Amino acid sequence: MAECPLDLHGRPLGVLRLSLTARCNLACPYCCPDTEDPPGLLTLPERLALVEATVGLGVHTLRLTGGEPLLHRGLEELIAALQPLRRREPGDPRGALREIALTSNGVLLGAERARQLKAAGLDRITLSLDGTDGASVARMAGLGGAAAGGAVLEKVLAAIRHAREAGFDPARGQLKLNAVITRSGNADQLLPLAALAREQGLELRLIEFMDVGNRNGWEPEQVLPAAEMVARIGAAWPLEPVGRAPHGTASRWRYCDGGGGPGAHLGVVASITAPFCGDCNRLRITADGRAFTCLFAATGLDLRPWLRPHPDPAALEAALRGLWRERRDRWSEERASLSAAAAVSGARHAEMAYLGG
Ligand code: SF4
Repeated sequence: MAECPLDLHGRPLGVLRLSLTARCNLACPYCCPDTEDPPGLLTLPERLALVEATVGLGVHTLRLTGGEPLLHRGLEELIAALQPLRRREPGDPRGALREIALTSNGVLLGAERARQLKAAGLDRITLSLDGTDGASVARMAGLGGAAAGGAVLEKVLAAIRHAREAGFDPARGQLKLNAVITRSGNADQLLPLAALAREQGLELRLIEFMDVGNRNGWEPEQVLPAAEMVARIGAAWPLEPVGRAPHGTASRWRYCDGGGGPGAHLGVVASITAPFCGDCNRLRITADGRAFTCLFAATGLDLRPWLRPHPDPAALEAALRGLWRERRDRWSEERASLSAAAAVSGARHAEMAYLGG
């Protein structure tokens, strides 16, 4: 069993969110992605060394993110190269990777790409869709107009089909849908998104609008609280609570009518109104090799000194262990105790697309 350091709040390390690029092919106003990647991007051997080091410290789940990770040409090669970490026995003292997941906007997920990702060894895909008509998709993806929004909507609906046909089974939680909800942007899309997810048999995870980065103009008034989202959907389709899994980000509900089948749960990620920092086990590493211990951190530890000119596994693991042991982040809980003005003007944060969400 890997030796799992605990942070200053007694939290173990469990999930690595590895960003492959800060670039994206959409421009969602709640994220405001960079148009360029930072210099000095990691190479495949460096990413493998990083993942292996974090697995040695207890990471069991890897989530590949961006920007838009499907823009990263070496994605399938990376996933395939990670399989030996998956084939380790659970009790292996070096640790074992249990799952590899991907978060994508789905626009580039064609049928062949979905098959290649499955064949490479990817376990789960979470797609993002913030509306069910061209106008709302365009508004939430920062696109020119309803026609562009409609084209993206078609691509994401096709991506759902491609992923399902490639073997990502919604009933086993291998295919899910994320939607960020803002009061003025797409609150009217709650029921249509829930209806689409039920129709597709998908778990829909509704995400409260967050003060990530420094560019999205976040205001508390723009947050549609999770409780209100659940109440609105529950009024249309009665729900029963399932709870939040340990270290999970989403509180989940089951439809009482069983609509949408075994996979069709409703989840809400309530970072603003019901923070979950208490058991947060997530580390983020950017495409250029900086380790951030919180989505809202301003600075991260540059890991390249232990990766170049060649990865030094022992030194890298020691650096990561030291970083985690000193971790005290719990911004969402701290924000909750701040006044609205202080929360808005509070700390600077690293940009969401750079961090990988
Ligand atoms: S705010 Fe930071 S510590 Fe809290 S749950 Fe999010 S990433 Fe974890």
